[in-house]
Order: sequence, then structure tokens, then C-alpha cells
Amino acid sequence: MTATAPRDEQLWSRCAGCASLLYRKRLRRNLDVCPECGAHARLGAPERLRQLVDPGSLRPLPDRLPEADPIDFVDVLPYPHRLTAARTSTGLSEAVVCGTATIGGHLAVLAVMDFRFLGGSLGCAVGELITQAAERALDDGVPLILVTASGGARMQEGVLSLMQMATVSQAIAALREAGLLTVSVLTDPTYGGVAASFATNTDLVLAESGARMGFAGPRVIRQVTGRALPEGFQTADFLLRHGQVDMVVQRRSLRGRLMALLAATGSARPPRSAVPRQESAPRRERLADAPVAEPAPADRDAWDTVRVARHPGRPTTLDYLDSVFDGFVELHGDRLGADCPAVVGGVARLDGRHVMVIGHQKGHTTAELVARNFGMASPAGHRKALRLMRLAARLGLPVITLVDTPGADPGVGAEEQGQAAAIAENILTLTVLPTPVLAVITGEGGSGGALALAVADRVLMLEHAVYSVISPEGCAAILWPDRSAAPQAARALRLTAPDLCRLGVIDEVVPEPTPAAHDDPAETARRLRAALLANLLPLLDVPTATLVRRRRQRFRRFGAARATFRAGAR
Ligand SMILES: [Zn+2]
Repeated sequence: MTATAPRDEQLWSRCAGCASLLYRKRLRRNLDVCPECGAHARLGAPERLRQLVDPGSLRPLPDRLPEADPIDFVDVLPYPHRLTAARTSTGLSEAVVCGTATIGGHLAVLAVMDFRFLGGSLGCAVGELITQAAERALDDGVPLILVTASGGARMQEGVLSLMQMATVSQAIAALREAGLLTVSVLTDPTYGGVAASFATNTDLVLAESGARMGFAGPRVIRQVTGRALPEGFQTADFLLRHGQVDMVVQRRSLRGRLMALLAATGSARPPRSAVPRQESAPRRERLADAPVAEPAPADRDAWDTVRVARHPGRPTTLDYLDSVFDGFVELHGDRLGADCPAVVGGVARLDGRHVMVIGHQKGHTTAELVARNFGMASPAGHRKALRLMRLAARLGLPVITLVDTPGADPGVGAEEQGQAAAIAENILTLTVLPTPVLAVITGEGGSGGALALAVADRVLMLEHAVYSVISPEGCAAILWPDRSAAPQAARALRLTAPDLCRLGVIDEVVPEPTPAAHDDPAETARRLRAALLANLLPLLDVPTATLVRRRRQRFRRFGAARATFRAGAR
């Protein structure tokens, strides 16, 4: 909100809301809220904590993690240079500060993001620190309060940053199971992967006055839709009107409101050590047990692979439902008012076994693609998928997902209907779904929209599919001088099957016929079917509790532990 980031040594600062020149000390006394127009300036994490917690009660949690550059990312600057600059300018180790504290005498664990640090982006270290904070809340039996400020996932850490959405979500799921309150406080701005995970899958969601939150940013939505955005789009009041937040709170009331909520919901629970441990937290040394990735086929250029993955002739989910499965019965609707054509799902048989299949549907012709919104799911699509996942668990059916989407629908309507929260709920639910889940990236695995169907016990990927935190074009537009650097961005993002196999994000590459799936769909289907059976059958014998515990471990190890592993390997 404020372009003129006020520094302590400055005596005056200009309000970004009304352009008034304000005496710095007066502004700070007013909690950095403009006394003239009420605009809430952005706060760094240390100042936010100072405003919220009882004086002297803050006990910071460790914030030092091993240096992380998991994919050796270089754009015009190497990623470690950007990290060093962020540390120097903010005095922080990372984009989140965590600690235990009391608020009006109620003990809680807090994780507060800082937008000044690389746009508050969610990378492996941030995911690990917030997960550790959530685990501390679980151990201590106290509520977790998350204050979010983020542009989204940290693209310099590639798809590993996307995995953090699942890692933190499953820690939130553990708090849900334990009956411990989770609260998120949305501050300006909260977007992308943070919005579509722990900012919205908490029990309570508060929005600070003037905060904006959404899955897709306004610039992207304007570009895609070519329309002007409605007045006040994605602001706290807009979110309240559309049923996406519990309340909008002025900064001066925030501490009091949190106190009241902690008091009303009863923050006391027996500490975790006093109750039987349901899920043992995976420890670093378990990395040694991490499944060894299958040998990957020879690399081809990442940009060529992107083009193959988007080929209009590539088999779609409905093609596979016809060729790989038998007896597909499509089920429709989210039961809340819509049926999204970009997601198809229903019961089917795989080699005689009943399964629930859910996948993104694109199309081969322009008319088909338009009718299916290019495979970009709306919130209704995510909620239909969620309904079918839960139904499968109740019926004891394994879930097979086929992922092929450029990303979730970045439209005005999607934002109004809660795209971020819909994705967040799917991710959280999949981390604990009590039935086997097998995911296949068949074409494009685009960002949070892909992850909403790809938190699974086993994640497979067709040889020429791609899976990425952001499109190469989007990444190039942000980090390079222009979008023509998309081929370089594609290489830097490590989005191909062999790369993701090496990173442990996927478990197995399904080879395609030469040169690619669209040249021989029948042979592709035969190979996919064999891979599905080989991966599904062993899962059917695993007791459900073990299955869910292993799935959690799978997504838990994508934190900084992963970075340790890589750093040690160098
Ligand atoms: Zn003002």
C-alpha cells in the first residue's frame, strides 16, 4: 500500500493513501495507520509482533536454516545474491518470524510474514519455519496464529516452493485433528500460493482493514480477461461480502479481537506430550530413507518439453478414461451451485478394480478448449474434486488424479467464489485423505491448480509433461527483462520429469512412445495403465493410518531438510 517505505531515521513519510506528509513518530504512535485517511501502511514482522503480543512475552523460535538454493536458480542475478540483499536490507534471516507469546495472557504460537523480504515469498525455508511453528503449537497444545503478507510461492526455488503449500497445510490439518484453533490474519498483500494454502485453510480468517487477498493478482486477471476489475476487487470488504473472511478488523482493534477469540474458543489443551502421539514428526535422518527416484530418461531441452506438454493432440483426461479405464461413470457438480467443465471425475474400473478418477480436461480443438476453459478449474471444479475425493474415501475407493492444467482459473468470478480457499481446502484434505491417492502429471502441471489434485502417495509424470510453480512466460516477465526469455526461464525452473525425479518431487517417469504421446495415444495409454497398476496395487495392502503417515512424511521432507540434504551432497 505504501510506496514510501518509512525508515526509522526518517522524520517524515508520505501516506500512500492520501499523500499527506506525516510526522513519523505520530504515524508510528498511530500504529502506522494514516490519521488523515485511515490507510494502513505495511508493517514489518518485528513491528507487527510488537503491536500484537503482550510486552516481554515473545520467545522467538529458531530462524536459522541451512542455506537453500535447491535448484541452483539463476535469472539475471543468482538467487543467493537476492537472498543476501534481502537479509541486509531487512535484518531478518527469512520472510517469516516465528515465536511463542501471550496475547492478553493467552499463550499462542505466532508466525508473521514480512513482505519486505523478497515479497514475503514462500520458499523451502519459510515453509519449514511455519511448519515448525505449527508443530510447536501442537506440542504445546496452544493455538496457532499466522499473519500473512506474500506475493506467493518463491519461484527461485521452483516446484519445491509449491510443495511448501502441502507441507504447511498438513501441519494445519494436524492442528485441526487435535482440536487446536488456527487463525490467519490476512494483511496487505496476500496472494498466490500463500493465499491458496495456510492463509485460507485455517479455522478463522481475519482480514486487516485495507488488505487485499486473492489467488491471482489483479494484473494477471486484467491481462487474461481483458476487462477492467470491479471497484474494490479483492479488498478486505470485497472478501467479507463474498463470504471469504470472518471479519474485517482495523489495526487498532486487531490485538483486542485476537484476545477475545482466544478467550472465547478456550486455548487450553493438554500439551501434546501428555496425549498419545498419533503422527510422529519425521526427523531429518529419515531423509536417508527417502524413496530413491527411478532412473530418468535422457534430458531434452526444457522449452521443447513445454511445447510438447501443451500440444493440442496430446491425450486428455477423457481420452485416458476411454483408453486406460473401463466403465467410467461421470459425476457432476459441487452441490453449491455449479459444475465446472474443466474438471471431470467419476467412478471407473482399472483392470477390474473400482477407482475414483478425477482430472483436468482440456480438449483438442479450439471449440473444445474454450468449452473446457483450457483445463483451468474454477472454485466449483476444485469443490467438485473435493466432494469426489471425500466420497471415494467413504466408499473405500482409491483416488487416481490426472493433472493437465496451465493453472487455476484466474478470473474475476473465480476470485469472487474463493479460488484461493477452494485450492487450499483440497490440498489440506488430500494430505490426510484416508484412502490411497495416486497422481499423474499427464501434460501441464501448472502451479497451485495442479497441486490441488497432486498431493498423493505416489506422483507419476509422463515423460514429456512439465510441472512448475509458474509458467515460463510468467517467470520470464517477472525476473527477466521480458517474456521472450521464457526458454531460459523454462530451463532455470527445473520443470521437466527427469529434473523433478532428481528432486524427489515425483516418484516415477512414465516413458512416452517416440517422439511423444500424441503420435501414438494407444501405446501411451498402454504404458500409463501398466504404471498405474504397478504403483496402485502395493498401496492397496497398506493400512490406512500407515498410508496417511507416509504421505505426510513424503510432503514433510520438502522443507529445509531437503536443502540440508543437497548442501551435504555438494
Ligand atoms: Zn492518508
